[in-house]
Amino acid sequence: MRVDILGVGFDNVTMDQAVAEGLRLMSAEGAHYVATPNPEIVEVCREDPEARAAVNGADLVIADGVGVIYGAKFLGTPLKERLPGIEFAKRLMAEMAKNGKKLYLLGAKPGVAEEAARRLRTQYPGLVIAGTHDGYFQEDGPVTEAIRGSGADVVFVCLGAPKQEKWMRKNGEATGAHLLVGLGGCLDVFSGAVQRAPEVFQRLGLEWLHRLAKNPSRIGRMMKLPLFLVHVGAERGKRK
Ligand code: UDP
Repeated sequence: MRVDILGVGFDNVTMDQAVAEGLRLMSAEGAHYVATPNPEIVEVCREDPEARAAVNGADLVIADGVGVIYGAKFLGTPLKERLPGIEFAKRLMAEMAKNGKKLYLLGAKPGVAEEAARRLRTQYPGLVIAGTHDGYFQEDGPVTEAIRGSGADVVFVCLGAPKQEKWMRKNGEATGAHLLVGLGGCLDVFSGAVQRAPEVFQRLGLEWLHRLAKNPSRIGRMMKLPLFLVHVGAERGKRK
């Protein structure tokens, strides 16, 4: 049973459980995908039924933002822990480096995925990166073909939300991979182009504040956060 937060269902799992499920899915028949929504994406899903269907259609939905954790608690259905997508991705790569599963990096500006691949191979000795592709393409066909041809087991899909969730839902099977993970701006971080917030910000759940300070043009998107809190408040009123 998923925990419903304003129409998006979250799996109530710990990081260990999520990683175990990810490993199971990457070895299972067929294509599966993981979504990592934050409050901003929950708000997008309220307005966009296709985005909502894509997020809820994921095999695993984990709570990326601290706002989701607060929202869940406030609604009386607390989630076990916050699971930043980037931490989930790192744990998966550490396991993949041990078991020889192949990873494909899709997304970000040209050159970023290649640089991320170079750095990740050093950080995770033994990690097989089957291929890379930037996220600014017009047609899906050549991209899914390239992924299929690479023999990748897992694809990190970093096209931003909700584009990446819609893409995974539509194209997952065609890639031939068993697990696709929507990871937003992670390739920018893995490539070194963008720095993650200092650890104290991460611990306090203030990573969003650091991102805003570094990139003030995010303010429009971030205004969705107070909206999320207002909607959670209204929902609590309804549930009482
Ligand atoms: N991006 C992409 N193709 C697009 C639009 C965006 O590859 O058509 C990439 C963009 O370059 C960036 C990532 O998607 O690397 C989105 O990053 P952002 O920080 O906005 O995502 P979030 O983690 O907030 O969802």
